[in-house]
Amino acid sequence: MSLLNLSESIDSLKLYMGSAGVNPKTTTLTVCLLGGELTTLSITYLRQVKELLKQGFTEFRDIEIGIQTNLIMTTAKLDDVYRLFNGNIGTSIDNFSDARKFKGSSERYRDIFNQNVEHIKKGYGDTLGGCYVVSTGSMKYVASEVSLAEEREHPLKLIVGRQSAIGEEVFSQRQLNKLTNLYVSLLEGWFMRSSVALEPFLYMLNRKLSLLGGELDPFESCNMTNKCHAQGVCMEPNGDFYFCQELADLKKMKLGNLLTGELDSMPIDVSKFREASITIGCSSCLHFNACKGGCMAYALDAGALPSAKDPYCSLHYAVYSKIDEMLDTYEKAEIIKWKKTLK
Ligand code: SF4
Ligand code: SF4
Repeated sequence: MSLLNLSESIDSLKLYMGSAGVNPKTTTLTVCLLGGELTTLSITYLRQVKELLKQGFTEFRDIEIGIQTNLIMTTAKLDDVYRLFNGNIGTSIDNFSDARKFKGSSERYRDIFNQNVEHIKKGYGDTLGGCYVVSTGSMKYVASEVSLAEEREHPLKLIVGRQSAIGEEVFSQRQLNKLTNLYVSLLEGWFMRSSVALEPFLYMLNRKLSLLGGELDPFESCNMTNKCHAQGVCMEPNGDFYFCQELADLKKMKLGNLLTGELDSMPIDVSKFREASITIGCSSCLHFNACKGGCMAYALDAGALPSAKDPYCSLHYAVYSKIDEMLDTYEKAEIIKWKKTLK
């Protein structure tokens, strides 16, 4: 996207935010530049993008700008990117499968990736957080990726992939049960023992802790909300925008285009309808206040209506139930103390 188009998109986005009731003075804005191809852009361009974002959103209480990309770049470029984004770099990891390749070779991809992870560790004493997409095909490597993250002491986020978007079959009930057992056993191994943040367990734990009151703020974030219309937006290079990256990947519920100024209120109405219907659909669930019916994108990906609850309901239910059990075993203060030690 050209800098001129970005500037125009920021203006349209601010109009949209105003109409959605966002109060800039009380809002911290988080901006994440996303995509493997970002590493091919010049550092000058990335610097100008960052400057435009800062200038465009000056009325906000604060703005945090980061980047999520692969680490396939020279160490000199990595240094520039690291400094430009104050270390706010996230990446996706794949230490065991052949899904990611550089010049046709997964070995080469891993070599450059690991060399750059090591470079950041040596140069800045920092460990980059990674996310791992869990699918029917990649499920077998989850435990190994978690062990490696523990060993290398970097945060890890497990994300169940939108199966149709990544060209795989939706989990069968048998596979989902297997994944649920795996998640529960990983949670047991992580809680009060690990030294690294492991998502989605940490934010699920935070949700439960926040419901107990005290010093933790109530916490609202994807992929578990019944207020998709109030979470944020994801903008594509052509100006198309959606509530989130998940919906952008699926090309569902497009809000409009920030370059042409086109806006469709239908997704907002649908999301508000979902908020009301999920409250009824999940009303008897013990975990509703934490889970909020899960994620609309997963429902859409599985071919369900946007108002349907998350098709991974049984997985969320099992994890939240285990968290409740664990919260009964430890004092809240002890848990908070442990959380503060996580990398
Ligand atoms: S665990 Fe299932 S029933 Fe409970 S709130 Fe989440 S999606 Fe709804
Ligand atoms: S579709 Fe899912 S990820 Fe997107 S805003 Fe809604 S809950 Fe969050």
